[in-house]
Amino acid sequence: MIKELQVRVIPSMAASMSVLADHVAREQGIDKRTITHIRILKRSIDARQRTIYVNLTLRVYIQEEPADEVYEKTVYQDVSRGRSVVVVGAGPGGLFAALRLVELGLRPIVVERGKNVHDRKKDLALITKNQRVDEESNYCFGEGGAGAYSDGKLYTRSKKRGNVEKILRVFCQHGASTDILVDAHPHIGTDKLPAVIENMRNTILSCGGEVHFQTRMTRLVIEGDRVVGIEAQRTTDGAELEFRGPVILATGHSARDVYRYLSEAKVEIEAKGIAVGVRLEHPSQLIDQIQYHNCEGRGKYLPAAEYSYVTQVDGRGVYSFCMCPGGFVIPAATGPEQIVVNGMSPSSRGTKWSNSGMVVETRPEDIEGDDPLRVMRFQEKLEADCWLQGNRRQTAPAQRMADFVAGKLSYDLPRSSYAPGIVASPLHFWLPKSVADRLRQGFRIFGQKSKGFLTNEAVLIAVETRTSSPVRILRDAETLQHIRLQGLFPCGEGAGYAGGIVSAGVDGERCAEMCAADCRFLLS
Ligand SMILES: Cc1cc2nc3c(=O)[nH]c(=O)nc-3n(C[C@H](O)[C@H](O)[C@H](O)COP(=O)(O)OP(=O)(O)OC[C@H]3O[C@@H](n4cnc5c(N)ncnc54)[C@H](O)[C@@H]3O)c2cc1C
Repeated sequence: MIKELQVRVIPSMAASMSVLADHVAREQGIDKRTITHIRILKRSIDARQRTIYVNLTLRVYIQEEPADEVYEKTVYQDVSRGRSVVVVGAGPGGLFAALRLVELGLRPIVVERGKNVHDRKKDLALITKNQRVDEESNYCFGEGGAGAYSDGKLYTRSKKRGNVEKILRVFCQHGASTDILVDAHPHIGTDKLPAVIENMRNTILSCGGEVHFQTRMTRLVIEGDRVVGIEAQRTTDGAELEFRGPVILATGHSARDVYRYLSEAKVEIEAKGIAVGVRLEHPSQLIDQIQYHNCEGRGKYLPAAEYSYVTQVDGRGVYSFCMCPGGFVIPAATGPEQIVVNGMSPSSRGTKWSNSGMVVETRPEDIEGDDPLRVMRFQEKLEADCWLQGNRRQTAPAQRMADFVAGKLSYDLPRSSYAPGIVASPLHFWLPKSVADRLRQGFRIFGQKSKGFLTNEAVLIAVETRTSSPVRILRDAETLQHIRLQGLFPCGEGAGYAGGIVSAGVDGERCAEMCAADCRFLLS
């Protein structure tokens, strides 16, 4: 017999299958020895009250062995003779588009400006060591895209559960822990992601697709009103290359050269709102104490605590973004003379710090003019100002949290996970007033909600600007093709249609499906 049950237990019970089996046997009035297997289907933590509970959905096998698979696997075809489709960018949008193309019998040619996910890691270390950012290989560019060296959070506000679960299953098929199918807030961790990404690339290659690293798209090849390929440059030797086929353009939110090119080539784009602010870093123990209502912190059985805050100040949203419990603040710039911060965590989420972006909504109408690149220019200016404030290195300007709210310079700073180093700076003074004032008010509100959150033990590190794309590449809502150029599928975060790893993956799959439909239409 198989039974599905909902149980609510304390964390130590949820951590042991044998103790869980005792609990189930007691609750169901059965002999524990008849339970042959328990599979956890869903797991979430309820930390609203003093006593923390873990809610579990269980599938209990009683006098029966589990025959069903943990998850359904995707079947990939041999596409070596399939029709070619060019996928620009090997972030989650591009990789999931390429894998879906393989599933549908089309042959992806993936073109990625950065290095493969392993070689890329060396360039990340050099940012701290040499205070220099490689413009082609950094935290945003390279195999796996902006999501490779991240927290690997896999939750999304997307309502289409089927699509989201497919993305999670594909991750598992390529080596991610099946815990991500179970947890309410799944995450992979930056130490585990590279191997998963490499396995995804190997599926594409073994099925007959192509992957070209260190190859940057320079322009689209347009015939009439149809995109028929791209021109690209190999960055190692400058060789000029051309790849033919319809194009899935998944170049992410940091490919400013792509936005500039599209604007100059009069490809229809528009300015899009973003959110800007700072990274806020607390000792993780303090966040655990606050969120788990316990001065002892999280104890042995609970993960590093998460938080999420949102409020409105003067007509604009102020909110926490991309929280990384037990993580690091990292230098995420993509070019010289800019500072950009972001966050990542290892799978254990075990560092001494917990950080999140604390950002203020910025709309296109908040910035003067009608240039579609104006939000991007606003980002660029902020990042350049920050670089000047940070002593023209990757050392980031920082201020203690309560000092920022009180409008006082911090005379010293706490220890931080930000490896290139932080330097005291009056952020309240030089951040745009519309951002600084709202952040200060937002922090007061968050501090009232959670006692201890607004504290000088926490530090603000500037500046967080790459929260989403500052540009939208206009596409038809049904065919997902550019509104004028057939054969061009603007995809993922950079096109303005996704935010986060899973939603970029979902959009990648959808673009691949629409591209396949267009190919069938052209052949018929
Ligand atoms: C440090 C960090 C941590 C993050 N943490 C999380 C998280 O925990 N969870 C989450 O959901 N999201 C997270 N995000 C956001 C997430 O990574 C992005 O939403 C997601 O990666 C977007 O996917 P994408 O494929 O659309 O674009 P990207 O991932 O940005 O990929 C675009 C790719 O295109 C390539 N490219 C750009 N221009 C060209 C060109 N001209 N020619 C060829 N290739 C080009 C780039 O090198 C890049 O690899 C994080 C982002 C960062 C920077």
